[in-house]
Amino acid sequence: MGLKIYNTFTRNKEDFKPITEGNIGMYVCGPTVYGPPHVGHARSYIVFDTWYRYFLYKGFKVKYVQNITDVGHLVGDADEGEDKIQKKAITEQLDPVAVAYKYETMYFDCMHELNVLKPTISCRATGHIIEIIEAVKELVEKGYAYVTKEGNVYYDVRKFKEYGKLSGRTLDDNISGERIEVADDKQNPEDFALWKKADRTHLMKWPSPWGEGYPGWHIECSVMSRKYLGDTFDIHGGGMDNVFPHHECEIAQSEAITGKPFVNYFVHNNLITVNGQKMGKSLGNTVDLNDLFEKYGPMFVRLYIVKNHYRSVLDFSEDQLEETKKTYEKFQNLVEITEPYIVEANSVRHTLNITESYDDIDAMKNRFLEAMDDDLNTAVGIAVLLELAKEANKAKEQDTNKLAYIRKVFDELAGDILGLQFEVKNDSSPNANMEKLEKSIIDIRNEFKKNKQYEIADFIRDTLKENGINMIDTKEGAKLEF
Ligand SMILES: [Zn+2]
Repeated sequence: MGLKIYNTFTRNKEDFKPITEGNIGMYVCGPTVYGPPHVGHARSYIVFDTWYRYFLYKGFKVKYVQNITDVGHLVGDADEGEDKIQKKAITEQLDPVAVAYKYETMYFDCMHELNVLKPTISCRATGHIIEIIEAVKELVEKGYAYVTKEGNVYYDVRKFKEYGKLSGRTLDDNISGERIEVADDKQNPEDFALWKKADRTHLMKWPSPWGEGYPGWHIECSVMSRKYLGDTFDIHGGGMDNVFPHHECEIAQSEAITGKPFVNYFVHNNLITVNGQKMGKSLGNTVDLNDLFEKYGPMFVRLYIVKNHYRSVLDFSEDQLEETKKTYEKFQNLVEITEPYIVEANSVRHTLNITESYDDIDAMKNRFLEAMDDDLNTAVGIAVLLELAKEANKAKEQDTNKLAYIRKVFDELAGDILGLQFEVKNDSSPNANMEKLEKSIIDIRNEFKKNKQYEIADFIRDTLKENGINMIDTKEGAKLEF
């Protein structure tokens, strides 16, 4: 079976065909850096990191672009309210650039903890103001956008006949009707801002043909994806809450400029609920990532997320945490019981041979890969890995070669593809055992010396010597020399 991806455009799982064979261009909407990352960020970026890892595993050459929104994302969705970063700059009494940089650093630190690979290109909106102004100019020239006497530039959604094709919404649905506040210089409430005029107090602003101002949120993604991935690219990702209006607006902007399809596959991860309720800053129930790391550790969080299929709602609750704990312990156990054998198999003078494969383990591996091919079904993937953990328990201490092989397969599937890493708490590799044995002999001899039982202490030293091992007393204590 080839790789299938659920495309939000068609609401169907489709066979994946890249534009250029063996290559993938992927754009994922990055964070707006105005606050500490929460579990919702973790879900989106772990999901797309897993896609990225799986594409790499399958041998694709991937150009993965992710933006950093450091300007222009307003508090209100209808082009009203303050810029989120400016608002934070005022409360934290920092320069807005310092706010953006602080939270961008925090974001990347958290992603590193979660073993999320860095995108090929990470680009900031503020680094692309020239290109953004060019794109807005082009939209005005082509008649898709209008400039108001207040100095704002809006996209006229009625000019783009296919507006709504991703979300399935139509203008008759009264798209902006639910928003009470609508900027009064818009021709239609559904129109969205490409460029906003900055007033005197606004902190982040740039000169433009329409006066000093700053870009709207949606335009940065159209501009940066085109710059790094071209007019049409393979995959565009983001959270489900980005389908409308953000991605709908991106399509309208990009396709109006190029006259070509923007993206072939739109991929969206579902959202996180907290005890069955929507999570949101305004609801006061956001789960801060650093708090979670402190409580459970970052790998637990990663497992919690990949345990669920990315298109299902993930509920954050005690029951779910308990369930994850059990799975985590089983994987930890697999890693611990297989550790000595994989270390041995990878050592220079190894006696175990992991090139010999086992049909039952290979069958599990195939089922795991089939699940990944089926729209990245990590939930099934985790179930298969649990079977592998059971198999490791069965082979425990009997079939050492098989244990090494199980571990090799686990590292490939859980490690390389799902990005999970487990620490070995109790190292029982031959080297570690040898060190423990040395330390024990030295401790025993020291104890006899301390009690002035020199005869026994010397007997230990002489016996070692007879066997070709010298015990040397140094300033730092005794040492064994082989
Ligand atoms: Zn975006």
